[in-house]
Amino acid sequence: MKTFTKSVKLDNVCYDIRGPVLDEAKRLEEQGFNIIKLNIGNTAPFGFQTPESIIHDIVLNMKDAQGYGDSQGQFPARNAVLMDLQTKGLMDAGIDDIYIGNGVSELIMITMMGLLNLNDEMLIPMPDYPLWTAAVTLAGGSPVHYRCDEQSGWNPDLADIRSKISGKTKGIVIINPNNPTGAVYDREILEGVAEIAAEKGLIVFADEIYSRITYDGAKYIPMASINPDILTISFDGLSKAYRAPGLRCGWMSLHGNKKCAAGYIEGLKMLTNMRLCANMPAQFGIQTALGGYQSINDLLLPGGRLHEQRDIAVDMVSRIPGLSVTVPKGALYCFPKMDSRFNITDDERFVLDLLREKHLFLVQGTGFNWDMPDHFRIVFLPEKETLKEAIKRLGEFLADYRQ
Ligand code: PLP
Repeated sequence: MKTFTKSVKLDNVCYDIRGPVLDEAKRLEEQGFNIIKLNIGNTAPFGFQTPESIIHDIVLNMKDAQGYGDSQGQFPARNAVLMDLQTKGLMDAGIDDIYIGNGVSELIMITMMGLLNLNDEMLIPMPDYPLWTAAVTLAGGSPVHYRCDEQSGWNPDLADIRSKISGKTKGIVIINPNNPTGAVYDREILEGVAEIAAEKGLIVFADEIYSRITYDGAKYIPMASINPDILTISFDGLSKAYRAPGLRCGWMSLHGNKKCAAGYIEGLKMLTNMRLCANMPAQFGIQTALGGYQSINDLLLPGGRLHEQRDIAVDMVSRIPGLSVTVPKGALYCFPKMDSRFNITDDERFVLDLLREKHLFLVQGTGFNWDMPDHFRIVFLPEKETLKEAIKRLGEFLADYRQ
């Protein structure tokens, strides 16, 4: 019988957030078990609502959302993004530098597909948000991971970045605020990245989808504000701050030295044209989202839901013998470390054992391309009681777990 296998292009593509452990979680659920799923930053299952004003605008305009629209995005939606960039002091983008996509995910794929030739290298943080590594691989490029240093609050290690640049390096990805570590980079770090990019002629891809989610007064600084001489592509969207991941709506904006990239920009336009247009209904929500009252802020202040859940996660995890964790200053995650007492050599087996025994689903550090089997990610989106229950189960499990 003729059989069909997946393409070799997918051979080295890894996306464990929705990978093999999820299959096991589904199998257990089908057997009637209640699994606490902390594998993905999905807001809706944990009771977070998209602001009503956004839904209202989408519903009101639904009739006008039936046809294909502009492949780069509808004018009012892109104009709203433009105004938002200007309020952040980013004055150098025009309407034509803004692209709306079906989530940041799609735009990541488009930017990598449009840029990379076979074996071109892209510097990606380690740990990463694994779609970046997957997208580079799928586009025929080679992901090269630079270390983020837990000892310095998970900041990018600038010396490591330098040491990994070759003649084939095309760009560098930064994720700020960071998934999975929760780090928020200060100006010095961003300047360090920009200096390297300027010196080596690299494009900076700044995934800033958590830009509005910071705690304890941590300040998000847009990468594109750092150095106008380099080309920076910034990404943001409705999924996180606006709790609307299912609307599949994100955008990117091009800043700085665009003259050097006329050919690349032509490629980006070709790729956006090829998929006709982004989700039309969601685009009607962008203007309402970006203007006026920002309800996310209430969730981030002391006493706010996300702030409280972050504190619970950090506090409970650090009380578990053998675990340590850097306090996240942004985003929705923390990335605890397991010490050597657990003797973990295979962290996928660790999360599978945890899932089977305690019905708790976490993602192992190597799922974020971390090079040691000694970390995992916690999503702190669940309500207090569920989160406490989840971390209690983790503590019970680790009390006598050894590999
Ligand atoms: N970038 C980062 C760093 C993320 O954490 C996520 C989702 O978790 C995405 C991109 C995907 O965003 P979107 O829902 O807009 O595709």
